[in-house]
Amino acid sequence: MDMPHTNIGILGSGQLGRMLVIAAAQLGIKTHIFAPDANCSPAGEMATAITTAAYDDYTALNQFAASVNVVTSEFENVPSETMAHLAKLRPVSPGATALHIAQHRIREKNFAKQHGILTPDFWHITDAASLGQAMAELQGRGVLKTCQLGYDGRGQIWIDPSDDLDARFATLGSNDAILEAAVDFAAEVSFLVARTSDHRIAHFPASLNTHKNGILTRSVAPAAISKNLLKSGQEAVLRLAEAMELVGVLALETFVTTDGKLLFNEIAPRPHNSFHWTIEGCATSQFTQLVRCLTGMALGSTHNYGQWQMDNLLGEDMSSLAKLANVPGMHIHLYGKSSAKIGRKMGHTNRLITS
Ligand code: AMP
Repeated sequence: MDMPHTNIGILGSGQLGRMLVIAAAQLGIKTHIFAPDANCSPAGEMATAITTAAYDDYTALNQFAASVNVVTSEFENVPSETMAHLAKLRPVSPGATALHIAQHRIREKNFAKQHGILTPDFWHITDAASLGQAMAELQGRGVLKTCQLGYDGRGQIWIDPSDDLDARFATLGSNDAILEAAVDFAAEVSFLVARTSDHRIAHFPASLNTHKNGILTRSVAPAAISKNLLKSGQEAVLRLAEAMELVGVLALETFVTTDGKLLFNEIAPRPHNSFHWTIEGCATSQFTQLVRCLTGMALGSTHNYGQWQMDNLLGEDMSSLAKLANVPGMHIHLYGKSSAKIGRKMGHTNRLITS
């Protein structure tokens, strides 16, 4: 079998990049990490090559592109201009359009609406006055989030109608924000699809997610949801992937309301934390599937071997590591990060719960 792309360039150096590098290495594929972080850590330690440079260093980007066959990004906040530039030199994934949409909470919600996917009510907030007006329309609790660069609960605050809105707006510290109606959800479910440049696709089983303070703590998969809900979620994520001409993997996070509706929360055009269970739990993990997409291989089976539970290990959880290591069947993944700060994702565990 021909493998046209045997050296993958990866923008970003976090744990997703690291796990992608590991999956690539298992298939004999080289990787080159490009990121501004010192030593491109933690992904860089595993990669064949690293370039430590800024995302707007076009000389470094040109050299990077020349050294690889295909380029992907392990996080969505790489400037879309960087991806657009690289696209002139090499096949890219997920592509500048997908990044541009996923980088901004209003853009992604409008995009979802355009494609017939329900969202919570939302308003673009640019100053305290627009927050006041939106809260008057909402008449209830809301979540105010920065439109860009928020993650793991950062850049978001809850707003009650009785709050001092000027003070709350000042606390967020951004004049490009979104107010979302607080959804009284029954569950949070995520969907993941892989799509190749010649439009082959593979869905993964859905994940049922639990968050604490905006940070994912646990995923259980396959999510115990109705066939109809699974179908709607898979159709939605595929519709979005096709509409943005995505190559690679696209994750869709949703809320399931108490009356059984699926509401769009956000998308990520990359491997997703709620699918880390696929490393041991599926015939093909999300990382291996992305490597297959990028290298022109056939997509692998996404059959799951029973039901799995993934738990994130945050900085504050690291003290339980010795205990976890004694649990039979506990698959421990650590990302090689040196300092265990509170709320920082240090690793995760995967465990088969029902075979
Ligand atoms: P996000 O970064 O937007 O995915 O938000 C992180 C988590 O905060 C979500 O997974 C939910 O648990 C919670 N959350 C965010 N937005 C809302 C909302 N509009 N209504 C209820 N919960 C929310």
